[in-house]
Amino acid sequence: MSFEYKCLLCDRLITSDQITLHKQKHADTYEYATLWPINDPFIDFCYDVDIPIYSSKIIADTIGVKKVYILDEGYNYSGSMKDYLVKRSIDIGIKNNIKFFNVASSGNHAISLAKLTQLYDYKAVIFIPASSVKIKLLSSFDNILIIGVRNSNYEDVYSLSNQLDIEGLFNANASNEILIPGLQTVSRQICSLSPQPTHILAGVGNGTYLSGITWGLEHTINPIPKIVPVGMNNAFPFENALFNKVKIFKKKSYDITNVYEAVGSIAVESFNSPHLYHCIKLSNGFVFGNLINNDLRKAYLLLMNDINLTKKCVIPEPTGIMGLAAALKYKKAFTGDDILLISFTGHALTSILSIKRLIPEIYNTLIASARINKKNFSFQINNNKRRNIIYIDKDIKMSMLKTIVQNWMCQ
Ligand SMILES: [Zn+2]
Repeated sequence: MSFEYKCLLCDRLITSDQITLHKQKHADTYEYATLWPINDPFIDFCYDVDIPIYSSKIIADTIGVKKVYILDEGYNYSGSMKDYLVKRSIDIGIKNNIKFFNVASSGNHAISLAKLTQLYDYKAVIFIPASSVKIKLLSSFDNILIIGVRNSNYEDVYSLSNQLDIEGLFNANASNEILIPGLQTVSRQICSLSPQPTHILAGVGNGTYLSGITWGLEHTINPIPKIVPVGMNNAFPFENALFNKVKIFKKKSYDITNVYEAVGSIAVESFNSPHLYHCIKLSNGFVFGNLINNDLRKAYLLLMNDINLTKKCVIPEPTGIMGLAAALKYKKAFTGDDILLISFTGHALTSILSIKRLIPEIYNTLIASARINKKNFSFQINNNKRRNIIYIDKDIKMSMLKTIVQNWMCQ
């Protein structure tokens, strides 16, 4: 019998046909990423993209470490690391003859799904809080149905999207155990570096990105660089999980004011994933939390000193700069021998309004550099075309929601 997963809650090895039965053993944790794939990563490789990694002497000198690598995930097709997860979902869809996908997202995951399904001539249903500023941008895609949920937060739209069970529709918020092999593209890029990094830092929501990188590295590098997830003040369940030495920690509420400009760091349903907890332990890593918007500002001001990066338009969105902000804020935690790899997880052009609010100083540089580098994540926004948006209440009957989506799928 070939085992395919290790349960991180009870250490048992299980096969794929035992997943449902096994998850019933941990019934109150069915929604968490608890199964760690143990199959050969090379079998599941599906996405080849050459993401640039730069080194910055100015940033390394300021932090006081030997070297700093900047991994520019903003280079991805839709401008963020979500492309790895969406590409993985689409790959599974192709294998199962599926052409419709749904996702709950108030940001980059939705943009990535819209752009990549458009590329493949597929369609997507996007669940989003009606208050989201991204609705205008998303409405420029002809291949998607936007379902704006009135008076809702991210957890409400996530719950609605997850309950939608329609044949032929694939949930792109699929569980991490399915998605993380999509990240091995990044692990391969990291493996090619010399010298190897001692630490890998990135801002996290549910930790899928760092979990996937660690999963890929587990098969190739020993020891694995220390995995360092970074979070905003009062919105970082991993910090609580580690502090309390529990594999799962669910926050009851978030202080939205402090995470406002780093919206991507808000974890789905406010819980940490046992996957990332496992990665921190596996790599002897740690967490940096308590970031506030002003820490992000300081990181942008430091980045502006490195003209080599800014002239190449290596400028992240506020969520994407959290890793650099933490390295700067907690620089005393490092030594002169350390080599940091800091991931800029998403590009500034995906969040221009946030950039304007948080760091207007960099706005002109961003626009000028985007023109020179012919970077174009802008969308043709047509204010007259709003036929692909439907607004609903969060207590809508599931049967009615199903009918709305099925009718759109049949068009
Ligand atoms: Zn178990």
